[in-house]
Amino acid sequence: MGKNLHRKKLFGGLMDAEEYHSKHAFPPNAQCQGCKTRGVITRIIVYYPLDEVKKRDPAFAAISEIDPERFLKLVMQTKSGPYVRISTIYACKQCTPSAEKAAAKGPSWSLVDINRGPGPDKAVSGPGS
Ligand SMILES: [Zn+2]
Repeated sequence: MGKNLHRKKLFGGLMDAEEYHSKHAFPPNAQCQGCKTRGVITRIIVYYPLDEVKKRDPAFAAISEIDPERFLKLVMQTKSGPYVRISTIYACKQCTPSAEKAAAKGPSWSLVDINRGPGPDKAVSGPGS
């Protein structure tokens, strides 16, 4: 029998938005990829399908056997199979458009997750500079 899945699920149903955000909250020391400022508003994560990564990088495939715990942290289950987190990029407001453009240039089978954070106005790290 299926489980109840009433809440809106992300990535094919394995995480809901709340779990997702708590798991992937912006680290306080995140820096913009482009200009190295803090105060990032966007996080872009690029995922590749596990099969593709294993094909291209045998060393990565080996990690799954040597260090399964670390490996599992990089893998995200989706409806279309497991994906591996390849890179995480943070960008400030100015750099967001070019960061998004760069991320979109990846292989067509890559999965790009763009997350707009709370923004400087709502940041909890104290008053603005
Ligand atoms: Zn920037």
